[in-house]
Amino acid sequence: MKAVVDPTLCSGHARCNAAAPEVFELDDLGYAALASGGAATVAPEYEQAARDGALACPERAITLIGQTTTPQNRETKAKP
Ligand code: SF4
Repeated sequence: MKAVVDPTLCSGHARCNAAAPEVFELDDLGYAALASGGAATVAPEYEQAARDGALACPERAITLIGQTTTPQNRETKAKP
């Protein structure tokens, strides 16, 4: 999964950071650091945190792209 923050929408509420500090760091002005460009790769163990952070954003500035399959999911799918 990758996380992208639209710099034209990010207004510095910092709610993403409050919900998922592992994924959404803030810059010196309190805006999501990702708003300065680029996409961050989200480690599988932080994907739920990334979803929580995206849902917490009142500006809907966060886009999550793709999703990896966790080892736990793979094990579940392999069972009949
Ligand atoms: S919650 Fe949304 S608007 Fe606020 S800093 Fe995070 S991405 Fe930007």
